[in-house]
Amino acid sequence: MPARRPPAAPAAPPAPTQSASTVPAPSVPHTFALVSARLQAQYLPGGPAPRTGRPETLLSGLIRTILGQQNTRAAADRQWAALRERYPRWEAALLDGPDGLEGTLKAAGGGLHRSKARHIHALLQALDDTGPLSLEGLRDQADAAARARLEALPGVGRHTASLTLLFDLRRAAMPVEGNLDRLARRLEWVPDGWTAARVVRWFDAVTPPTWAARASLHVAGVRHGREICTARHPRCDICVLSDLCPSAAILGPTRPGPTLAGPSLAGLASPGPASGRA
Ligand code: SF4
Repeated sequence: MPARRPPAAPAAPPAPTQSASTVPAPSVPHTFALVSARLQAQYLPGGPAPRTGRPETLLSGLIRTILGQQNTRAAADRQWAALRERYPRWEAALLDGPDGLEGTLKAAGGGLHRSKARHIHALLQALDDTGPLSLEGLRDQADAAARARLEALPGVGRHTASLTLLFDLRRAAMPVEGNLDRLARRLEWVPDGWTAARVVRWFDAVTPPTWAARASLHVAGVRHGREICTARHPRCDICVLSDLCPSAAILGPTRPGPTLAGPSLAGLASPGPASGRA
């Protein structure tokens, strides 16, 4: 959605990097820390915590992540349960082949069962070609090496690798999907003309390189995009960022001002003249 005015001098895009620890100090938008704090206060008041219920092994975690992409949580949970019931060991899934995997996923319901079955089987095949069906060796690898190993696997792109690094390996990766991308554009942190890949690199450069900061911004940002800053009908009238967001004036109703902010957010209000938070 177009912004109200051309973005005001966004931070210069940093060069792509392999690891947050090697990123030079970038120019961070003046609202970045406040936005991050408000999102965390709103959606993760206790701070980010490791996801519960994650599979025990990294390979299982990666397959669970693949099932969750472009899928509902409920459908991915059903497909995951069906896979685990039919294939207690991934060697059995490899032997069953892509058609067997597809049948199992299809019976469990949910979309993209054909492409996910082929994706998962190709992944298992690639691991089998080079050693055991395991990714546990990643635990001993540095962030850049672990990312490179993941992204070398069939069908595993930067986003999937970032999710595995963040949630299964507790590394300071920064997964950026559509909700965070949209938020950055609406806050005029980045120009509308940037590609999604450039926005991903930008987030990687400006977000503090700690697991907590990145897990918090990812989880809270996704929830904010799903619940408030939606693609079609953003709820600027109840958004905790409305006084910081240049897009609120054109996307929101005539009476802006967050109502979701609780007492815990009182100290996070911007001192600027546009501050209209309760
Ligand atoms: S004020 Fe509106 S456009 Fe801006 S972040 Fe909130 S919901 Fe999104």
